[in-house]
Amino acid sequence: MLFSELGLSEQILRAVAEQGYETPTPIQEQAIPVILQGRDVLAGAQTGTGKTAGFTLPLLQLLQQAPVRKKPRPIRVLILTPTRELALQVYESVCSYGKHLPFFAEAIFGGVSSKPQIQKLQRGTDIVVATPGRLLDLIQQGYADLSQIEYFVLDEADRMLDMGFIRDIRKIIQLLPARRQNLLFSATYSPEISTLAEQLLSDPVEIAV
Ligand code: AMP
Repeated sequence: MLFSELGLSEQILRAVAEQGYETPTPIQEQAIPVILQGRDVLAGAQTGTGKTAGFTLPLLQLLQQAPVRKKPRPIRVLILTPTRELALQVYESVCSYGKHLPFFAEAIFGGVSSKPQIQKLQRGTDIVVATPGRLLDLIQQGYADLSQIEYFVLDEADRMLDMGFIRDIRKIIQLLPARRQNLLFSATYSPEISTLAEQLLSDPVEIAV
């Protein structure tokens, strides 16, 4: 299969080509079309399978298809990750794949000053990649508003649960609008992941690679 058969825009295909990717990986072939159809997804995928592009490329496309012209820009996509390293990695992927598109992204994580993160939130950002603790801090201080989220991604959900983030995740989910598309990625499955998936996802397409 070719990237050009997946329904992605010219700007996104150009960014993908500039990354040097020739063909989509199996998770990308399976996830991109169903995410573009608006379905919730439960995906079993390890790091290294290309899962980040598997959700980032279609989400960029969905944003591009339905521009929102509000000021300040609402946060439309929220991607939660277990660690700062992963948040940065996903953020960098979003920036690379979206480099020909007019969207702003920000990475929100603890262990560093929150000032630059707050400044970017105040300027308006379409896509937030965050670890749960710092995001909740900034929400409680009134700097991040999740009421306009259209797309919610839990990346490496199994690691999030292992790291004890379940309460934070639940608090964040409660702040999201009811009408949204949800994607859950996990390398492994457990009863806890199944429970979370049942609560979070609506009629999900299941993908395993
Ligand atoms: P991930 O599983 O998302 O952490 O991605 C693993 C690595 O694969 C990253 O370094 C990506 O840049 C790379 N990658 C993602 N998709 C492709 C692709 N279709 N072709 C070649 N490399 C890719």
